[in-house]
Amino acid sequence: MNTDEILTQIASEVAVCTNCVLHKTRIKSVPGEGPANAEIMLIGEGPGANENMQGRPFIGQAGKFLDELLKQAGLQRSDVWICNVVKCRPPDNRDPMPDELAACNLYLERQIAAINPKIIITLGRFSMGKFLPGAKISQVHGQMRRIGPQFVIPMFHPAAALHQAALKPAILADFAKLPQLLDVARKEIAKAGPLPAQPAAEMPVGLPTANREKNDATSTDEQAKQMKLF
Ligand code: URA
Ligand code: SF4
Repeated sequence: MNTDEILTQIASEVAVCTNCVLHKTRIKSVPGEGPANAEIMLIGEGPGANENMQGRPFIGQAGKFLDELLKQAGLQRSDVWICNVVKCRPPDNRDPMPDELAACNLYLERQIAAINPKIIITLGRFSMGKFLPGAKISQVHGQMRRIGPQFVIPMFHPAAALHQAALKPAILADFAKLPQLLDVARKEIAKAGPLPAQPAAEMPVGLPTANREKNDATSTDEQAKQMKLF
């Protein structure tokens, strides 16, 4: 099966999935969408009311803001793959529960493996928690790390930034860095080749950050060390 076929197959399984309680209240499942060869994958939290009606991710207010953020980075919706950690709407937009995240994770894992994006942008804490358990978003947002075969950039959730004005400059600045970070990711991946999934490399890489002095790991050797291959 090619990537498109795999993604279609996953979407058809999600549509009839009963692996967690969220299936009981869904109108439409929201498997995610975008081009199969996307270099960037964005992972949000879960469908809201509009998404539940239409079966598409980020089509409400948060989605409009996300479109603006992407535009800032010179990107369009059609350039990126967008999905959520849970594919069915948590009632009243409550937080997804651990058992729901666990149940839905298998679909997300298969989507990531099929698309094999260069960069995964986590939007909000549930999606960040998958890659950086225990991290504080206020401390790590906008910092790119290699985690297994991908680079991961945690970012604030656009809905949070809409409701908390103080977060808006940070999310705008993080998206503005994206073209440069994508450049770094492309070069690093071309140099090192895709690595097999490994324990997280914990050092941020890419643009200057507070931790940059600890981290000049741009060579393949350094990366391999980070990956604990040496
Ligand atoms: N918020 C999310 O996290 N995902 C959506 O699809 C819409 C809003
Ligand atoms: Fe299945 Fe995920 Fe929907 Fe739960 S949220 S019913 S695991 S598709």
